[in-house]
Amino acid sequence: MGCKRDNIAQAVALISAIPGVNIKNISSLYETEPWGKTDQDKFLNQVIEIETSLPPKELLRELQNIEIKMGRQRQEKWGPRLIDLDILLYGNEVLDDPQLIIPHPHMRERLFVLVPLAEIGADLRFPDNGATVREVLSSVLAREGNRGIERI
Ligand code: AMP
Repeated sequence: MGCKRDNIAQAVALISAIPGVNIKNISSLYETEPWGKTDQDKFLNQVIEIETSLPPKELLRELQNIEIKMGRQRQEKWGPRLIDLDILLYGNEVLDDPQLIIPHPHMRERLFVLVPLAEIGADLRFPDNGATVREVLSSVLAREGNRGIERI
């Protein structure tokens, strides 16, 4: 919701200010069709790579604080929101905790994640099955086409 570019830029600035976090790489912005609930405005997506001394759950807590600070109001699942921050991968860790699942549980189905991720990390491997991001992206693209994702 609101000025999506500004919201993302603000979130990235707040992430870079987390003690113990260094931003290493940032993908382009991608405009994507809504997923799950399709009668709404397009979404804007970006993937960033960070280096961090924070363990995964502390990182998640910091990201959730940023969502709260930015006034995210959770109204409806998959509906419009100011910002949504997710952890996709964390090195080679696999985590299956009620609070935090890594790799992110839905990332391998979602082009709005895979396309920006492939821009900065096509050769990354999923720690659970060894597939690369490039391989997973190609198979989703072959199955579904590009679904109107545009680099802007
Ligand atoms: P969302 O609506 O996508 O922001 O979902 C947030 C919820 O997902 C939080 O309660 C988190 O504890 C949980 N969650 C599980 N795995 C992850 C992940 N990899 N990144 C972010 N949130 C996660």
